[in-house]
Amino acid sequence: MPLPGAVLVAQSLVSLGVTHIFGIVGIPIVEVADACIELGVKFISFRNEQSASYAASIYGYLTGKPGVCLVVGGPGVLHALAGVGNASANHLPLLLLAGSSESHQIEKGAFQELDQVAFLKPHTKLAAKPASLASVPKLLEKAYRTAYFGRPGPTYIDLPADLFSSKIEEVNSISQSAVLNVKPPGPAPKAAADPARIAQAVDLLVNARNPLIIVGKGAAYARAESSLRQLEDYIQYPFLPTPMGKGVFPDSSPLNVSAARSAALKSADVILLLGARLNWILHYGDAPKFKEDVKFIQVDIAADELGNNAAQPDLGIVGDLDLVAKQLLAAFKEVLPSAASRKTSLPNHLEIVKQKNTDKAHNTENENSYPIKYQSVYRVLREAIDEYSKKHNSKRVVYVSEGANTMDISRSSFPLENPRTRLDAGTNATMGLGIGYAIAAKAADRDSLVVAIEGDSAFGFSAIEIETAVRSNLPFITVVMNNSGVYHGVDPERYNTVDQNPLPSTALQLETRYDLLAESLGARGYFVKTLDEVKAAIGDALQKSDTQASVLNVIIDVGKDKKLEFGWMASTKKGPKI
Ligand code: ADP
Repeated sequence: MPLPGAVLVAQSLVSLGVTHIFGIVGIPIVEVADACIELGVKFISFRNEQSASYAASIYGYLTGKPGVCLVVGGPGVLHALAGVGNASANHLPLLLLAGSSESHQIEKGAFQELDQVAFLKPHTKLAAKPASLASVPKLLEKAYRTAYFGRPGPTYIDLPADLFSSKIEEVNSISQSAVLNVKPPGPAPKAAADPARIAQAVDLLVNARNPLIIVGKGAAYARAESSLRQLEDYIQYPFLPTPMGKGVFPDSSPLNVSAARSAALKSADVILLLGARLNWILHYGDAPKFKEDVKFIQVDIAADELGNNAAQPDLGIVGDLDLVAKQLLAAFKEVLPSAASRKTSLPNHLEIVKQKNTDKAHNTENENSYPIKYQSVYRVLREAIDEYSKKHNSKRVVYVSEGANTMDISRSSFPLENPRTRLDAGTNATMGLGIGYAIAAKAADRDSLVVAIEGDSAFGFSAIEIETAVRSNLPFITVVMNNSGVYHGVDPERYNTVDQNPLPSTALQLETRYDLLAESLGARGYFVKTLDEVKAAIGDALQKSDTQASVLNVIIDVGKDKKLEFGWMASTKKGPKI
């Protein structure tokens, strides 16, 4: 039987082990999507390619295999570029597939014409167009593999419409089965490190006065938590997670210095940097946030990352974090006595700051003011979610968060015990990815509870995707922290005088009814203004979380008269400690 082009693409994807595809169909790729569905793939059909591409990329992060995104050409690719750029900046494995105009119409102004291969080349690890139908399976396999072998990132395959009008029978005497013979590439190969660099690192660390571990999302992606926890149990150094590195080590550990972040960064003389880059999130490793002469032992899968910004290239260790953690532990065992002879505690100067800041945060979240504020809302949410999780066999909870203050404050309000359970705006501070991420998190693990904590501005980018979640039966809880503005709102009185006194660019409509929007999309909406109402709404949403998508529209203090800043940005400024 001759095999139509669309079926060949679908069969190749299934042979690679693809079970979920995120996208939006149209001519000519609708046939591919339907062929995939026919073969048992779950096709999650979005409302905008931006969200679909964000979703596919974080699905890749969560599963360790590339997320696949299927879109139309031209504008579809332009929209999906948002996810490609985000995957490239965050090093997330993503395979983007897009239809394109028939080859004989190139440069004729064809329907949705765009030279997509040229367009995506600078943003991907590989971008190619198959020369013929026979070359599709192998090329798909290469693009799929390239996305997650080595340093993860996005790849692209162009699917010109002519592929779908052709059928494959006998190709140059190769039979169909030979063409279709693609197999899942299996787990990404891991490389161990140069033993000399391991010995040098251990020597530096055991002689440090104030060693510190910084753990990033590369460690979470590497699934190195087990070997890293064994290493940490042995060496017992203070550690600091980056926002998405949280949970690789349990936040509840007494060695967690998140609550004394600035003091820990400032006092460390040797830092073991595990799967994190010295970019803006870590202030480039520069003084005054760090000691002028601090030494970074950076471990990364990519050799070209080592030595960037303040890191010393000759101390860098290239290798897979899981294997490197084991090598480090073996080397430490040669020179350090067993952990049993040391007490698990932070150095005094960090413990004092940690205690002070923890007490302060505790007091803030227990304040009972009206209008309600981030911290107290988060306390109520956390208590309810923790209780629900405990009652349900320690149900895995995945938090998604985006926004400025919303994301920033939520980081410390929701401690994590497990890796890959916090997904946020990431390296590029990308706003608009939250709902796509939440859909993907639910698709990756149907049994987990997914909670998206969204700023109202951030939610606005992709609120329509609540309909996608409802239709796809991937329910999660969205909490919109609604201060009626970007960063913050303005005095409600200002809305009465906009003709004389225009609103600032940061202002949004006052108390937009996102709950009603959610109801119109098939979710359950809750409009809440007090802590008691938050408690009742989250309780109800949790009870129904297996089957019902919920949106809590939480009206919080507009935060007027606040200085315009975002915690992480503020802390990258040179100058006195912030
Ligand atoms: P964060 O945002 O948490 O600071 P980054 O995205 O800046 O983290 O850095 C993550 C780093 O982890 C990247 O430089 C990436 O190359 C690296 N990485 C990814 N996978 C692995 C792995 N298996 N082993 C080691 N490093 C890895």
